[in-house]
Amino acid sequence: MIVVFLGPPGSGKGTQAKILASDMNWVHLSTGDLFRLAIQSNSELGQKVKGIEQGALISDHLVLELITHQIENIDLEKGLILDGFPRTQAQVQGLEEILNHRNQILDHIVYFEISEAHLITRLLKRKVCSQCGFVLSQAELHQECPCCHQQALLQRKDDQLKIIQDRFLLYYRYTQPLVDYYQRQGKLSKIDAEADPSEVSLALKKVLGLI
Ligand SMILES: [Zn+2]
Repeated sequence: MIVVFLGPPGSGKGTQAKILASDMNWVHLSTGDLFRLAIQSNSELGQKVKGIEQGALISDHLVLELITHQIENIDLEKGLILDGFPRTQAQVQGLEEILNHRNQILDHIVYFEISEAHLITRLLKRKVCSQCGFVLSQAELHQECPCCHQQALLQRKDDQLKIIQDRFLLYYRYTQPLVDYYQRQGKLSKIDAEADPSEVSLALKKVLGLI
């Protein structure tokens, strides 16, 4: 099964993708994580995508190059979650071509529905551990990372208000039209992303027909 998680930044789709991938032994492909790793290692790709830290949208060409390369090495019979991709109409078409090439189709698109006000509150609370990558949604309650117990919690650079608002503008301009596109294809399910993470996990498995 090949599934796309669609939703604004901070809607919890990355967290849910990690949980589902680990429960089902699926592959989770996050373009955001791949780009952040590339920036950290200062690779050639990292140099090209540095603007993502300021909330910029990476060019379709670069994103498609990365995804094509990643998908080549994945066993698509197993189950794949695409998180943060596709983000534009050009990427939607690129993805269809990549999957055609492998005799596969997109099975489901899950849309994480959440209000902008709720999101801003959530994003401003979020921190990430610089040692192990653990993401905390209620960071004000913690001094140290609950996972590796180091005092290494940082606010992600793109989580500051101005950048959050810029990311929203980009999201609504380029990504929101994809919701309508996939809805017309009859493949889109919406879930309430303002609910507790455990409830979201359950709703997710229901719409994917896994329980
Ligand atoms: Zn940690």
